[in-house]
Amino acid sequence: MSQRFQSYINGEWIAGNGSEPDENPSDLDRPVGEYGQADAVLTAQAVEAAAAAWPKWSLSTPQQRADILDAVGSEILARKEELGRLLATEEGKTLPESIGEAARAGQIFKFFAGEALRIPGEKLASTRPGVDVEITREPVGVVGIIAPWNFPLAIPAWKIAPALAYGNTVVFKPAEIVPGCAWALAEILSRAGLPAGVFNMVIGAGRVVGAAMVEHPSLDALSFTGSVPTGNGLLRQAAARGLKIQLEMGGKNPLVVLADADLDKAVECAVNGAYFSTGQRCTASSRLIVENAVYDEFAARMRKRLAQIKVGNPLEAGIDIGPVASLAQLETDLSYIKAGHEDGGELLFGGERIEIATRGHFLEPTLFAAKPEHRIAREEIFGPVAALLRADDYEHALALANDTRFGLCAGIVTNSLKHATHFKRHAQAGMVMVNLPTAGVDPHVPFGGRKGSSYGPREQGRYAVEFYTTVKTAYTAA
Ligand code: ADP
Repeated sequence: MSQRFQSYINGEWIAGNGSEPDENPSDLDRPVGEYGQADAVLTAQAVEAAAAAWPKWSLSTPQQRADILDAVGSEILARKEELGRLLATEEGKTLPESIGEAARAGQIFKFFAGEALRIPGEKLASTRPGVDVEITREPVGVVGIIAPWNFPLAIPAWKIAPALAYGNTVVFKPAEIVPGCAWALAEILSRAGLPAGVFNMVIGAGRVVGAAMVEHPSLDALSFTGSVPTGNGLLRQAAARGLKIQLEMGGKNPLVVLADADLDKAVECAVNGAYFSTGQRCTASSRLIVENAVYDEFAARMRKRLAQIKVGNPLEAGIDIGPVASLAQLETDLSYIKAGHEDGGELLFGGERIEIATRGHFLEPTLFAAKPEHRIAREEIFGPVAALLRADDYEHALALANDTRFGLCAGIVTNSLKHATHFKRHAQAGMVMVNLPTAGVDPHVPFGGRKGSSYGPREQGRYAVEFYTTVKTAYTAA
């Protein structure tokens, strides 16, 4: 085993208990490294270290915080190839996608370095004579961050950077299967000039570390990205103790293709949105809703295009899709493929595991012709499995698009300004894409959904200030 990934608590590296392999999903015989598990006691120490560091850090100057975040961003950008390689090996997305994600993490740190210098406030005239009213923003306190495995650099970055920029201290819990990326990020932060305790990273099981975090009385806020059941459980715990919470959970994102669309563009949007990053994006297009007049032609072009997709080791040139990230996720994907058959869907492409020279979790991109009531058309799969649905016309397509308990992203491919405009207004989603894949967002604008997908203020861009600060209204008489 090459490397042991440790937790980082109060400025020190802590080995944790036992030894778990950090798997390489493309080559199960060659793990990325190993890691020790932090328990509830170590987690409590991390929260207490963050609480002890907060009073001083909350009064640090914006310039001090900007300089540190800018240095972190610069180092990530300078090392994006190396970090991208680690990400591709550990999580399985292709090397170009992984390098792109590393670069994005660097850009996010730089964006929030600037935001530290632009913390907004307001001054208004009072309704009373001789009184001034000021509205200012202050840090929330100790922020817990629970991250998923699918963007192991970018998602931690878009939570950690604003938390620190606005003067909070952090306890970050990465997902169990990506301790290497979390360690790499923590290692960069550990050398950036942050006082001990300001940033802590605790590697361990979600139900142990996550529970110890959310139950700790010194935790002031929690930002979570992950599955619906975990998010809803955390929401209940947070409500019981009045904890500020932000949740990003699942999606069942529709991509509508209208009869007037450029079909080549539609196929590229669908293939990218549904299958790139192995379909493991919360914004993945898992429902392709196609107007009747072009349905057969679209289905035929999709089969042809999917036959050209290369699945394999994400480090190799020319590979379009890497492995599924874990055995558990592969089993979920396969169970949904089985459900697709059982519910009466027609398999149009894929459906089988793929063997390559190394042992890994490779799966064919899979497309089913399905009905709206089928499980594969209703439940989030989080794999390279998409459902193709037939719509009579635009109104029917819009109704199908909105017929879901989720509301993260919705896309449409059309040349009709009228329908694009109507869709932007009427899609019940936090993000809408016109003639673009549903996945692939800019880092400087808000990210988040509606309905069962999200809870609390938006992430990213200037809107991150809502979650990571609290507002104070001060009245002054001369
Ligand atoms: P996924 O199924 O995609 O792994 P999860 O919601 O299980 O999604 O995981 C997202 C994050 O939540 C991970 O960091 C995981 O360790 C953490 N987690 C899992 N269970 C709990 C829990 N009971 N309390 C807090 N965090 C948890």
